Amino acid sequence: EQAINDDKKIVIALVAPAVRVSLGEAFDIFGDVSKKIVTALKRLGFDYVFDATLGADLTAVEEAQEILYRKENNISLPMFTSCCPSFVKYIKTYHKDLIKNLSSCKSPIAMHSAILKYYFKNIKDISKDNIVIVSITPCTSKKYEASIYNDTTYSITASELNIWLRERGINLKNIKNSKFDTIIKNDLGNSSILFGSSKGVTASIIRCLWYNLKGENIPKRIINYKPLKSFDKIKEIKITINKITFNMCCCYTISAFNELLKNDYYKKYDFIEVMACVNGCVGGGGTILCNNSKILKVNKTRANLIRKIDKICPIKCAYQNKEIKYLYSNLLEYPNNLKAKEMLHTNHLEKVKSKL
Ligand code: SF4
Repeated sequence: EQAINDDKKIVIALVAPAVRVSLGEAFDIFGDVSKKIVTALKRLGFDYVFDATLGADLTAVEEAQEILYRKENNISLPMFTSCCPSFVKYIKTYHKDLIKNLSSCKSPIAMHSAILKYYFKNIKDISKDNIVIVSITPCTSKKYEASIYNDTTYSITASELNIWLRERGINLKNIKNSKFDTIIKNDLGNSSILFGSSKGVTASIIRCLWYNLKGENIPKRIINYKPLKSFDKIKEIKITINKITFNMCCCYTISAFNELLKNDYYKKYDFIEVMACVNGCVGGGGTILCNNSKILKVNKTRANLIRKIDKICPIKCAYQNKEIKYLYSNLLEYPNNLKAKEMLHTNHLEKVKSKL
């Protein structure tokens, strides 16, 4: 609020995918409230409101390129996703020997914050000190993550946003829809909404791998892949693209990940997605609270809603996103390139040495 009241500051909100399917619950709306969130945040005084699914698209493109490189060169497999700061912190604290397996990609929020910092500083000519980026997520761990990467200034949870809106007398039920701000005109939007629930990162990466290796969009039957084998909280996926077979696994909760470590079972995979919360970010610690006995049902409803949004999204692969194309042609050049590495990746080992 201090930043919002300071005329010199440009205050930017960055809204994570899972927030749009849960914040409405606090106002008895059960659906996608993303456009109402934009209006509400502008009423609170934010100058810009961006959709963090652009950051998710960037992550999908960068991580797909990284797994492809590691697979072709047999480097530190399986690669673990690095979107979940709780999981990253767990590996850094308890399994230092596995740090090399973490993807070097920053999380979608951290990538998007780095891009926005660059954009407002260099294109909009705003002094770095006057750019305030606030992530709004279902995740309490994002507060910790914001302390590691300096581009996100503050991180607030969906639950805290709910309190803030109530304090200001803003009811989502009574407000109109508004569109997210974008770096360039982007009517078709972003593709990686699925990041908001478990298995979503893997699905988005498979779509990018297909595009990368075949130069075409993934056929519908592949997009709706079925897990090969289903355990509680763990799913296996095997996909062959241009004669390259990827053995993949998605799991949620740290205890499920620990099951994979037993007898080195995890070594049979090329890629493992891990989310610390039940059902992924839709079950995050900072999401809208509900009665304990209903949590699993509520998480499932939120995850289904995310899948519905994905179904009607006109683009299915991050590579088709106009803003992604713009960012690579004007700034990043190509995935995993030097500039992309500098802005969108990190060195987890160095961070451990500096105690972060
Ligand atoms: Fe945060 Fe939970 Fe999502 Fe991990 S799974 S990023 S801890 S909300």
